[in-house]
Amino acid sequence: MASPIEYLKGVGPLRGDLLKKELNIFSFGDLLEHFPYRHVDKTRVNRIKEIHPQTDYIQVAGRLTSYQVMGAGRARRIVAHIEDSTGSLELAWFQGISWVEKMLVEGNEYLVYGKTGFFNGRPQMVHPEIEPFTPAKAEGKVFLEPIYPTTEKLKAKSLNGRQIGKLSFQLLSQLRENDLPENLPDRLIQELKLISRYEAYRQIHYPQSQEEFDQALRRLKFEELFIAQLRLNLTRIQRHKSSRGVVFEKVGDLFNRFYSAYLPFELTGAQKRVLKEIRTDTAKGHQMNRLLQGDVGSGKTIVALLCMLLAADNGYQSCMMAPTEILAQQHFNSLNSLLGDMPVKIALLTGSTKSAARKRILHELKNGEIHFIVGTHAVIENAVQFNNLGFAVIDEQHRFGVAQRAKLWEKASTPPHVLVMTATPIPRTLAMTAYGDLDYSVMDELPPGRIPVATVHRNETARAKVMDFVRSEIDKGRQAYFIYPLIEESETLSYEDLMQGYEQVKSFFPEPKFWISMVHGRQPADQKEANMQRFVKGDTQIMVSTTVIEVGVNVPNASVMVIESAEKFGLSQLHQLRGRVGRGSEKSFCILLTGSKASADARERIKIMCATNDGFKIAEKDLELRGPGDIEGTRQSGMLNFKLASIVADREILEVARAKAEAMVEADNDLSSAENLPLKSYLLSQKGKTAWSKIS
Ligand code: ADP
Ligand code: MG
Repeated sequence: MASPIEYLKGVGPLRGDLLKKELNIFSFGDLLEHFPYRHVDKTRVNRIKEIHPQTDYIQVAGRLTSYQVMGAGRARRIVAHIEDSTGSLELAWFQGISWVEKMLVEGNEYLVYGKTGFFNGRPQMVHPEIEPFTPAKAEGKVFLEPIYPTTEKLKAKSLNGRQIGKLSFQLLSQLRENDLPENLPDRLIQELKLISRYEAYRQIHYPQSQEEFDQALRRLKFEELFIAQLRLNLTRIQRHKSSRGVVFEKVGDLFNRFYSAYLPFELTGAQKRVLKEIRTDTAKGHQMNRLLQGDVGSGKTIVALLCMLLAADNGYQSCMMAPTEILAQQHFNSLNSLLGDMPVKIALLTGSTKSAARKRILHELKNGEIHFIVGTHAVIENAVQFNNLGFAVIDEQHRFGVAQRAKLWEKASTPPHVLVMTATPIPRTLAMTAYGDLDYSVMDELPPGRIPVATVHRNETARAKVMDFVRSEIDKGRQAYFIYPLIEESETLSYEDLMQGYEQVKSFFPEPKFWISMVHGRQPADQKEANMQRFVKGDTQIMVSTTVIEVGVNVPNASVMVIESAEKFGLSQLHQLRGRVGRGSEKSFCILLTGSKASADARERIKIMCATNDGFKIAEKDLELRGPGDIEGTRQSGMLNFKLASIVADREILEVARAKAEAMVEADNDLSSAENLPLKSYLLSQKGKTAWSKIS
C-alpha cells in the first residue's frame, strides 16, 4: 500500500509525477482512496431523442458524422456531431482540444457522457467525456464503470476520469486480502452487518451491482466516522484519566455570599444543572475541558461568573476572554455590577488598555491581587503572567483560533479548567465531530418571562412604514437597532453602505428629537465604546451599526431591530443579531428588510427566521443549507473533511459511530483487549494523519 505510485503498471515516472502534483496520489494506498465520483452503467445507453430540456447528465452512443476545429485563441474549440437512429447531438470542447481531436475518426462509434444543454433549440453537450464505443459485452464483467475526479493536465496525458479507472483496476487486480487487513472488531462487523474492509475497497471502485456499491459505501463511511469518533473519545477519556488539574474542593464564602445575597434572580433549571456538572468536574483533580452550548440569552454569563467565584474560593484566579473589545468591556461592566461590593478584584485588559494601567494590571495579576481578568486576545499575550490561573472562560468561542486557545495552557504549571461557551448553538453532529473530545453541557432553557421576538420580512419598498413602526416604539420609550451587513470583499464599500444608511435613518429620525449612535469597525476603540455607552445609557434611542454589535451586547430596553439587506446574512448570524432584542420584559420585534432580488437560499433563511426563535433548530437548518465547510469556526480546523462521509447526509451513521466509539472506549480505555488490538494497531499506523484531536 505504501509502494510509490510510479511502480504501478501503467503509471511510470512521468504520469507518476503528474498524479502526485495534480491529485496528491503518492502511493498505491492513495490511489485506492481516490474514489470514483460516479459510476456509469454501461448497459444503459440513452437515445438522443430522449434528451429534453430537463435532462441533466446522460450517456448516449452514436456515430461521428463530422467534426471541425474552429476559432482562435480563447475561442478555439472543437465542434462535433454524433447521431444515432433517433437524432443528432452537437458536442463541443474548449479545452484539451488536441487529445480530443486525436481520438475522433469520422464514421466511428463513440460513447459520450455529459451534461446536456440546449442551444438554438437543439441539444448540445459541452466538454462531454468521450471514448470509442464498445458494447458492454466486450468489456468483460464491468457493468458499473467508475469515473474518477481528474484534472485538465491529467486528461492531456491520457488520464481522464475513465482512464484513471484502468489504473485502479490494475491495482485492485494485484491486491490480496492481507494487503487490506480488517481493522474493525468482528463483533461490530457482525452487529452492524458490514462487509469486510477488503471487499469494501474492491466494491467501491468496481461494484457488480448498485447494492454492492451501497454496501461498500456504507462500510467505508462508517469506518471513517468511527475512527474519528474513536480518536476523539480516546482523547477525552485519556484526559479524564491522566491529566492533572487544579482541584476546586470546596464551595466557599464568596460563592455562597454571592449566591444568597447578590444573585438578582433565581437560576433556571438548566443553569443549575450545568453548574453542578462543572462543580463535579472541577473537583476531580483532572483538567476540565467543557463546551457549554446555550441559545442566545440563556444566561451563560452568570454561570461563568459563579464558576469564577468557585475558583476564587479555592484560591485561584480566573480569566474571561471575549472576541471583541466591545464585548470584553461589556462583560467587565456586567460582572462588575453583578459583583457589587463583593471583595473581589476584577480588571479589564484589552489592546487599548493604556500602558500605565496595563503595567499595573500585569503586576497585580502576577502577584495574585487580581482575581478575575476580563479581556480580549490581550489576555493570552506572552507578557501576561498569572499567579495561579485556575479557570478560563472563552466566550463566543468561534472567533478564537485553536492556537490561541492552546496558549492558555502555558499560563499555569497545571493547566486551568477551560469552559468554552458558544454564541449560538451549534448542531449536534457538528459538536460531535468538531468538539467531540470536549465534555458537553447544554442549556436548553431560557430564563422565565421572555416573550419571543416577533420576526417579519419586509421589502425595502415598505421602508417608510417600517420607519413609522420604529418611531412608534421609540415614542413608547424603547430603543432601536439598524444593522448593516459587512461587505466581505471591501471594507470601503461596507463603510459607504453604512454611512448612506446612517443618513437615511437620520432623515427619518432628525435631531434633536432623536439621537443616534453609530458603531463600526473603523472607529478607534474608545470612540466605539463611547458611542456604545451612550446607547446603553439611553442617551441615544437609535444604534446604527455593522455586525460588530453582533456578539453579546445587552441593552434590555431595545425592542426593535431592523436588519438591512437581510439576504446578505447567514442564518446563525441573523439569529445572533436578533438575540440583541427581546432581552427585557417588553415585546420585541425584528424586521428583516430585503430587496426583491434575494436568492432562493436567502428567502429560505428568512422564512426560517420568521418561523422560529429556537437557536438549536436554526443551527440544524443552517448546517443543512450551508454544509459543514462554511460553518464558522470549523473551517480552519479541517476536521470535517471526511473523504466519503458527510456529517449532514450521513447523520445516522455518525450517531451510530459515536455511540459505538463511546461504548468501546468506556469499556476498554486504551483498546488493549484482544478483540480491539487490530483497531489499536491501525490507529497507531495512522498516527500523524489526523493531528487535530487537541482542540482546547
Ligand atoms: P447569553 O447566554 O446569551 O450570554 P446572558 O448571560 O447575556 O446570555 O444573559 C442574558 C440576560 O438574561 C442577562 O440580562 C441576564 O442577566 C439574564 N439572566 C440570566 N439568567 C437569568 C435567570 N435565571 N433569570 C432571569 N434572568 C436571567
Ligand atoms: Mg453571552
